[in-house]
Amino acid sequence: VQTEYLKMQNEKESNARSYPRHFPLVINKAHGVKITDTEGRVFYDCLAGAGTLALGHNHDTVVNAIRDVLDQQIPLHTLDLATPLKLSYMQELFSILPAEMRDKAKIQFCGPTGADAVEAAIKLVKHATGGKSILAFQGGYHGSTQATMSMSGNLSKKQHLQSLLPDVHFLPFPYEYRCPFGVGEGMTARLSAQYIENLLDDCESGIAAPCGVIVETVQGEGGAIPADIEWLRELRRITAERSIPLIIDEVQTGIGRTGRMFSFEHAGIVPDVIVCSKAVGGSLPMSVVIYQEELDQWQPGAHTGTFRGNQLAMAAGLATLRYIREQDVLHNVHLRSEQFMNQLNAMKERYAEIGDVRGRGLMIGVEVVDPTGRKDRLGHYLPNGALAESIQRECFKNGLIVELGGRHSAVVRFLPPLNITEQESGAILAIFEKSVAEAIA
Ligand code: PMP
Repeated sequence: VQTEYLKMQNEKESNARSYPRHFPLVINKAHGVKITDTEGRVFYDCLAGAGTLALGHNHDTVVNAIRDVLDQQIPLHTLDLATPLKLSYMQELFSILPAEMRDKAKIQFCGPTGADAVEAAIKLVKHATGGKSILAFQGGYHGSTQATMSMSGNLSKKQHLQSLLPDVHFLPFPYEYRCPFGVGEGMTARLSAQYIENLLDDCESGIAAPCGVIVETVQGEGGAIPADIEWLRELRRITAERSIPLIIDEVQTGIGRTGRMFSFEHAGIVPDVIVCSKAVGGSLPMSVVIYQEELDQWQPGAHTGTFRGNQLAMAAGLATLRYIREQDVLHNVHLRSEQFMNQLNAMKERYAEIGDVRGRGLMIGVEVVDPTGRKDRLGHYLPNGALAESIQRECFKNGLIVELGGRHSAVVRFLPPLNITEQESGAILAIFEKSVAEAIA
């Protein structure tokens, strides 16, 4: 049966499909971090809806919240008309904002995808500032629409599209391991901040009056690269001093993924605009933009869209947010992150093919390198996408689903549910090590 299904998928689904190519399975059931396919094979799912499933698959609290909506005949879809559920959802979401933002923030419900909210955020700051150009970061990812692709790194995917936003300037991200300036030892972040400041202040050939800066505090698709905390503070200072709105794309990092509800909290900064999706809808499609009220200068109808009032997503999102808060799930993120990082770092000592282990919270990446080849300026072996793909394939054979990211797709990424247990994490790490050993054998 599975072969038939997969044959149909291969024949009938667009060539542009991504994940299914790597994971030839037909999923029948899923619970927590595990999914079962139609042949009864069980897999640990460290893709978890690309970070959407904060509480794993079909968590009771989420399933019950969805069931309640159906039982109470709450309309499934209301555009963005008010319902008690929508108001409770807003209250809960506002309650987790940093205190400096809580009373003054505004929210815009957006379409089902993260990209839609990023588009809204850019439109918002363009209206508010009158600025045209956008500052984004090398290696960043903000979506797959034409405007969000303009702000993303993926050059290879953009080359056939001629009409992307013209006014995007890419700035160097503090990627310590492969420092864009060719220096190491904590200098990357300092140089990056100085470079940005200089670019903004250079009245001859700098970047005049941008509408905003968009950044991920941990680049997700870019290869689980955490931005230096001091650099984030510098970025906040530089943008605040020049009244440039700072947009933090929390689509992947938000709602606990990095160990804080919002990832910018690690730096103790407050952005002007927060973009959320994925876990904010508790595993169902939804996205929002939350922003400082003085930016709310656009007019009614400036950002519309049909699917902004999905009550099931609000119910699932509300249940997820409450559960994370009430059950102190963030503490578990901290513990499990340590467990992953410790074991992966120990593996790095044993395998020359593991060049770097990094991340924040449960957004973790392992950069796979080629120890038989040449080294870069910093003395690090070059990325090895082919080996990363073999490791991913071995993982799949051994019952573990992991995604690749980063330049050359050489970073194995772990995005497990935030409530994953110690024992499940141990099992995943054991499969990963076995798979690495098999892939290089
Ligand atoms: N921003 C970031 C940081 C993301 O990781 C993603 C998706 N991986 C997006 C935006 C786009 O979200 P979507 O795929 O829902 O459009």
